[in-house]
Amino acid sequence: MELSLDSPMTQLSGVGEERAKKLAKLGIETAGDLLSHYPRDYEDRRQICSIRQAPLGPRVCISAMAAEHPRRTRIRKGLELVQVKVVDHTGTLYLTFFNQGYVERAIRAGEEYIFFGAVEEQGRRRSMTNPIFERAGRQTVTGRIMPVYPLTAGISNHLMASLVLQVLPCAREIAETLPQSVRQEHRLAAAEFSVQNIHFPENESALELARRRLTFEELFYLSVGLTHLKDRRQGSAGRPLAPRPVEEFLDLLPFRPTGAQRRVMEEVARDLTGERPMNRLVQGDVGSGKTAVAAFASWLVARGGGQTALMAPTEVLAEQHYRTLSGLLAPAGVQVGLLTGGLSAREKRKTRDALAAGELDLVIGTHALISRGVEFRDLALMVADEQHRFGVSQRAALAAKGGDMAPPHVLVMSATPIPRTLALIIYGDLDISVIDQRPPGRTPVATYVIREDKRQRMYRFVRQQVEEGRQVYIICPAVEEDPGEGEPLPDLKAVKAHAEQLQQKTFPDLRLGILHGKMRPREKEETMAAFARGEIQILVSTTVVEVGVDVPNASLIVVENADRFGLSQLHQLRGRVGRGQHPSYCVLVTSSRSPEALQRLRTLAATADGFQIAEEDLKLRGPGDFFGDRQHGLPQLKVASLTGDVALLREAQDAARALLAEDPRLSRPENQPVLRRVRQLFSDTPDIFN
Ligand code: ADP
Ligand code: MG
Repeated sequence: MELSLDSPMTQLSGVGEERAKKLAKLGIETAGDLLSHYPRDYEDRRQICSIRQAPLGPRVCISAMAAEHPRRTRIRKGLELVQVKVVDHTGTLYLTFFNQGYVERAIRAGEEYIFFGAVEEQGRRRSMTNPIFERAGRQTVTGRIMPVYPLTAGISNHLMASLVLQVLPCAREIAETLPQSVRQEHRLAAAEFSVQNIHFPENESALELARRRLTFEELFYLSVGLTHLKDRRQGSAGRPLAPRPVEEFLDLLPFRPTGAQRRVMEEVARDLTGERPMNRLVQGDVGSGKTAVAAFASWLVARGGGQTALMAPTEVLAEQHYRTLSGLLAPAGVQVGLLTGGLSAREKRKTRDALAAGELDLVIGTHALISRGVEFRDLALMVADEQHRFGVSQRAALAAKGGDMAPPHVLVMSATPIPRTLALIIYGDLDISVIDQRPPGRTPVATYVIREDKRQRMYRFVRQQVEEGRQVYIICPAVEEDPGEGEPLPDLKAVKAHAEQLQQKTFPDLRLGILHGKMRPREKEETMAAFARGEIQILVSTTVVEVGVDVPNASLIVVENADRFGLSQLHQLRGRVGRGQHPSYCVLVTSSRSPEALQRLRTLAATADGFQIAEEDLKLRGPGDFFGDRQHGLPQLKVASLTGDVALLREAQDAARALLAEDPRLSRPENQPVLRRVRQLFSDTPDIFN
């Protein structure tokens, strides 16, 4: 039966119910899905070697004739061998197959085959174990560049490749979705050619063309969607606020702003007093002073009679912002409220009522709390701290809200330094301001990597800091020794047990506190507040303090099992210290023996620049760290390698802008395929292009 793009996998030969289920785990249910399951790498099987000249080690193709009928032997239950001798004009190769009984009949004496495998040598005897083989002249998986696929248990690469070969003719049906003009201008290969060659490339240049087209395509649809969202926001009416001299706000601050802070405040002021809704990202490394910018924006809005909602990623951070901002803005008569899960039902209702009545100018809470149907009298500004948890689709949904009212201004703040390529994609719909300067008097945090043998010395240093009046964080990767289900975590420092031990054995005379995500919100808040007041000297915590927490008196952070964390995450943690005028330290404790792990940690120790660290992290770990949990709210990208494709990304963005300039709503018949693809890609944002 003819296969088509919609054929279910069970229609392929070699796929029954079992295999179909396994393939479904990879998201492959139809022939079409299989065609868009791209290889992650390639293996060059083009060169055919002779038996004598074949290099030892790497897998190679050898063309040879079976010199005998294969011999099948049963060694014991569950272990069976098939052995056969093959020859070419240079020598003899001894083949052994384990538990592949079918080989006995598949290889016939006197016939020519191509064998693909690693050649081994003992004395002058050359051999190969479990080679892949096929009849010479009827090759499909040897003698060419072979794809290497992402796999799942029970599906081998060989099987995957042979399935793709079965459906490859369906590539004919793939409709060309890129407009002809775009393909011509950017020299992009046709869809059919590209799909065929991304799987089974004819040669290197065909592969390059295929990859270029498919990457461009992906980035292009993404850019069309993002650019459209941006245009739509800019096309809608804003709610221009009356300008106010920035100095009036600066008088409220306990410090002089840095030049960068001041510049960004002016940029924000220009947006807020302009005709269009603000849609701005403020990016600044940890400790660069982003909170002051948020305070400024909400002050300006309150002055104009509007309300602001500030969303923090954690309750700990929401409560801290509440303390800071209410203290800062109270003298200006700005009413600030807090809305977190830790409050009693009565307190929450009070805050909600006050918001609806317009008695509060600024409310601070977590993302969940604010988005869940809170009513405002006049919501004019949304501030999202730590933006990567507030993705494109949330921003789009927000922009669409407001009904007849103009959409609120949006200010997004991120300390997560995101590499340039990623930023261009993730923030494609935002204007960007960068705070590229630190408050004065800060010295970089001195960072050390140590092993277990220095633990006692490190504890003496902790004590010394506390005796000088400073405070210390000790970060552990786990909450409990054994999380109950699943494997126990050997060697991982767990907050509870570690804190107990430190309190009893190491620092019986010091005041320790404990903080982790499983505590009740109330307890968390009390602990954090006690640490902020200096009552707790050593805070033993999980990474809940990772983002945003600000206690300037803390001068030392110790990270246990540091090799378990990503570099960017460690940089964020390190950002908890070095916020005041005291010399500050970060000690990374590891017992890892892996040279790469140590190298990573040393990179961190040697670098203070968050952006550089993020680039490094991206190189070492791939975009998973940024894209892992889809919190960015962006569609999944398949081919776009996010480190290297900046130039192509720019081309795709240009093409997207050009297309939308000509056909802003994608209403022309020839652009319908583009519209469909963008809608598919942005399925989380169903009203795009409505
Ligand atoms: P982040 O950018 O990480 O959110 P914060 O806004 O929390 O940084 O600021 C970090 C610390 O630096 C805070 O204690 C804040 O009061 C202080 N700070 C911010 N700006 C300045 C400045 N211009 N001069 C001195 N201290 C500042
Ligand atoms: Mg912050």
